Amino acid sequence: MNILVMGPQGSGKGTQAKRLARKLDLAYFEAGDILREKAKEKTKLGKKIFRTIHQKGELVSDQIMEGIIKEWLSQKKPSQGFLFDGFPRNQPQYQFVEKILAEKKMKIDVAICLKITRETAIKRLSARRICSECDREYNLVTLPPKNDQLCDQCQIELKQRHDDSPKVIKKRLQIYDQLTSPLVDLFRQQGILEEVDGERPVEVIFQDILGRLGQVESVAK
Ligand code: AMP
Repeated sequence: MNILVMGPQGSGKGTQAKRLARKLDLAYFEAGDILREKAKEKTKLGKKIFRTIHQKGELVSDQIMEGIIKEWLSQKKPSQGFLFDGFPRNQPQYQFVEKILAEKKMKIDVAICLKITRETAIKRLSARRICSECDREYNLVTLPPKNDQLCDQCQIELKQRHDDSPKVIKKRLQIYDQLTSPLVDLFRQQGILEEVDGERPVEVIFQDILGRLGQVESVAK
C-alpha cells in the first residue's frame, strides 16, 4: 500500500508519518528532512535550497523535487509500499509522482490529511524546538524537554528552526492554502482521502489512522 501524509505545517504529519512507516514497514520519503540535509551541502544547489527553505519559506522548485524523488524511488524496492510525507505539495509534483508510480504499476492508495486550525498551527510552530546535534524535535507546549530548553539526550541548548520565525510561518501556511490544499480536493474526488482531526493527542490520532487504514485494506482485498 502506498500512503501519502499531508497537512498544514504544525499538523503533526511528520510525527504520524514516521510512526506509520515503522509500523507498516513502508519506505519513508520525508521531503523536508531530505531538503534540510541537502541545504547543508556547500554546493550551488545546497545554497539555493538553503535560501528557499530557511530564508524565504517557499517551495523548492518542481524541477529540483522531480530530480530528488526520481533518484529516491529508483533506489527503493520496498516490499510493503511507500509513505510520502510532505510530498507532493502541488499539482505538478502530484503529476510527476503519479507518472513514475504508474510506470511501476503502482498508485497512491490513501491520502491522509491531518486537519488543524490556523491558530493551532501558529501556536505549535512557534513552540517547536530542535536539537542541532541529534535533530530530535521538541515542542515547549506539547512535548517539552525534561530540563528547561536543553536536549534530553545531548544536553545542549535547543534552537528554533530558521523557518519557524513568525514571518516565514505565515508564508508557509499561505503556500499550503494556495498550492497544497487543492490536492486535498483532488484526493477527495478520487475517493482516496482520509481527513483526520489533528487537534487530538498523538496516540489517539495514530490509532484513528490505523483503524482507517484497516478499513481501507479490507475493502481493497
Ligand atoms: P517541512 O519540514 O515539511 O515543513 O518542510 C520544510 C520546507 O521544505 C518547506 O517549507 C519547503 O520550503 C520545503 N519543502 C518540503 N517539502 C517540499 C516539497 N514537496 N516541494 C517543495 N518544497 C518542499
